[in-house]
Amino acid sequence: MLTLADVTVRFGERKDARTALHAVDLEVAEHEIVCVLGPSGSGKSTLLRVVAGLQPLDGGRVLLDGADQAGVPVHRRGVGLMFQDHQLFPQRDVGGNVAFGLRMHGVPRDEQRRRVEELLDLVGLPGARRRAVAALSGGEQQRVALARALAPRPRLLMLDEPLGQLDRGLRERLVVELRLLFGRLGTTVLAVTHDQGEAFALADRVVVMRDGQIAQSGAPLEVWQRPASAFVARFLGFDNVVAATVGGAAAHTVWGRIPVPAGSPQGEQTLLVRPAGVRLVAPAQAAGGLRCTVEARTFRGSRVAVLLRPDSGPVLEAECGLHEAPEEGAAVGVTFGVEDVVVLPREEGERGAS
Ligand code: ADP
Ligand code: MG
Repeated sequence: MLTLADVTVRFGERKDARTALHAVDLEVAEHEIVCVLGPSGSGKSTLLRVVAGLQPLDGGRVLLDGADQAGVPVHRRGVGLMFQDHQLFPQRDVGGNVAFGLRMHGVPRDEQRRRVEELLDLVGLPGARRRAVAALSGGEQQRVALARALAPRPRLLMLDEPLGQLDRGLRERLVVELRLLFGRLGTTVLAVTHDQGEAFALADRVVVMRDGQIAQSGAPLEVWQRPASAFVARFLGFDNVVAATVGGAAAHTVWGRIPVPAGSPQGEQTLLVRPAGVRLVAPAQAAGGLRCTVEARTFRGSRVAVLLRPDSGPVLEAECGLHEAPEEGAAVGVTFGVEDVVVLPREEGERGAS
């Protein structure tokens, strides 16, 4: 439905030009929910602005349903936009806000009204048509903004950090609702966020960006299980990333010998050990393994993140059940579970294992 081919955008003049998007290729299929994820400044907003027609290209093409959008103005693209600061019109009531796009498209009044009521039902604000937007909570305003974006039935809905202003609890609830809603409506969605949790809960596919380029694209589970690089792994919040020399079925690291999956690339690599793969054992049981001191524990629902200070090498994060978590200051041994070890390509600038 949406194709970006070799899209490049630069800002600034020659000498201090900055490439915000660098030869980006991206496809979004009809009914697909794609979430673009990346640190601040990686080009996410620019990507959406390019698709909307708000940002001219320095190279490449944007196609919607196969038609090149060069020269097609914003209001002719049939895309809906919802930004972080959702900017409702404060002087209009809820109905007036939701009907905005319908008025622009010259939809008759009684049909506008019917559609507004339908949308307010849809976003969980039935009967809110006459309410003042200033009197709504942040979450309610977000729903109004969503209803407004959906009203003209855009072929593609684009969301830029849509839930960024809301507190975590509300965000987590809204994200689940949004996914259900989009699934029911069959909406094609391109959303951007810097929050991994949001992206993974919302998307059929996540696209991780770095410095104007796509670092990885894949189903949430796939990206979570097999980050393509140390950058992606770290961005997802994995901190057990270490230089390694892989030989056969094991890798040598500052943390000692770590088993690697069969068929792993050999030689100088980078290793990711997910916290679940860091197994705590009695110090004596870690035969030839790693001895550590428990530096901190953080409760995360029914699991505990345990930060370990090894005898050698950087700190290591382990994860265990509520009742198995050792005390702070305790001496523990560590063994590694191969199913949570991922071999990543060595990145430029990383030091060797030795
Ligand atoms: P993100 O949304 O991922 O935070 P942006 O797409 O907003 O990133 O920005 C990508 C890069 O382009 C950043 O380095 C940013 O400073 C730059 N940039 C974005 N918009 C402009 C602009 N209008 N003028 C100059 N530089 C810009
Ligand atoms: Mg942005």
